[in-house]
Amino acid sequence: MNQRGISLGRVFGIPIRLDYSWFLVFALVVWTLAAGYFPDEFKNWPTAQYWAVGIVTAIMFFASVILHELGHSVVAMHYKIPVSSISLFVFGGVSQIEAEPASAKVEFLMAVAGPLVSFALAGVFGLLQLAFAASTPALALVRYLAYINVALGVFNLIPGFPLDGGRVFRSIVWGMTGSLRRATTVAGNLGRFIGFLFILFGVYQAIGGNFVNGLWIGFIGWFLEGAALSQVQQQRIHDLLAGRKVSQAMSTAYTPIPPDISVQELVDRHILGSAQRSFVVEDGDRVAGLLTMHCIKEVPREQWPTTSAGRVMIPLAKVKRTTPDTELWAAMEEMNRDGVNQLPVMTDGRILGMLRREDVIAYLRNLREVGL
Ligand SMILES: [Zn+2]
Repeated sequence: MNQRGISLGRVFGIPIRLDYSWFLVFALVVWTLAAGYFPDEFKNWPTAQYWAVGIVTAIMFFASVILHELGHSVVAMHYKIPVSSISLFVFGGVSQIEAEPASAKVEFLMAVAGPLVSFALAGVFGLLQLAFAASTPALALVRYLAYINVALGVFNLIPGFPLDGGRVFRSIVWGMTGSLRRATTVAGNLGRFIGFLFILFGVYQAIGGNFVNGLWIGFIGWFLEGAALSQVQQQRIHDLLAGRKVSQAMSTAYTPIPPDISVQELVDRHILGSAQRSFVVEDGDRVAGLLTMHCIKEVPREQWPTTSAGRVMIPLAKVKRTTPDTELWAAMEEMNRDGVNQLPVMTDGRILGMLRREDVIAYLRNLREVGL
C-alpha cells in the first residue's frame, strides 16, 4: 500500500499508520453505533451519550484491529521476518510483512496469531461485562467489543486468501504438497472464488433492500478478489522468472554521459525523442553515478543550462545496483523495495548494462510469446 496517511507512532518498533481511507470507515462505524446499534440495545440515553459512547467504542474497536495485526507481526518478527508497518485502511488492518514465511509451519503460526488475539480480546471484554451494571455506557462498550472481536476473528478465518483463513489454508496445502507454488495457486484461486461469492451475496442483499450493507459486502468481495488475483499473477511471474539471471534481461545499450554536460543539453539531446529515462554518468572510463528523471525534476527549469549532470546525479556510492548473476526475481523485489525503476548491472566497478522495469516486462512478454 502507498504511504498516504498519518503516522501514529511505533509499537515494538513497528510504525503504525492511518491511511486516509480509514476515516471513511471510522465515520461509518461511529454512525452505525450511535444512530443504530446503541439506541436499539440501550433505550433512553441522551443523544449526546450515544455519540460519545459510539466514538469511544469505535476507537477501541480499531485498537483491537491493531492488536490483531500485532499478533501477526510479533510472530513474524519472532521468525526474523521484517515487518515494515501496520496500517488501518478502509477495509480494516494490514501488516506490511516484507518476505514470504520460510516454512508452512511459520506461515500457519503467523496466520492464526491474529484471530487468536481477537478471540482473546473477546474473552477479556466478555468477562468485563460482569463488572458493569445494566444499561451503563461501560457495559455497552465492553459488550460490543466482545461481540465485534468474535466477529473479527471468525471473519478473518474465512478460507479466502489473502484473509488469515486463506493463509492457514495455504500453509496446510503447502505442508501437504511441499510446494509453496502449488499452495499459492490453489489458495489464490479459492480466494478469488470466495471474493466472487461476497460480491454475489452483496448484490443479493442490495436487491433485497439492504442497500448499504450489500454495497459494503460487494466492495469487500471486490477487494478480496483483486488481492487474490494479484497473488496468483505474482506467482505466475515468479514461476516464469525462476532460475533466470539479471544478465538475461538487462539491456546493454545505454548511453553514457559525461559529468560536465548541462541538464539542458541532456534534456534536448538525449531525453526528448528517446525512450531513455536514466543515464550512467561516466568520468573517463570510470562510472561516477546515475542520473534519473527524478534528479532532473529536482532542478528548477531556469537552472537547467547552468547545472551539470555531475552535480545532480546520484553518486555511485548511493546507487542501488545489482550483479549479472543475481536472480531476476530477486532484482525485481529489490526494485520494488527501494522504489527505483532501474538498477545498473555492475561487476568490479564496471558497468555491464541496465536493468529497467521495462526490460523485465519485455523479457516476460518474449518468454510467453516463444512459449517458455
Ligand atoms: Zn489477520
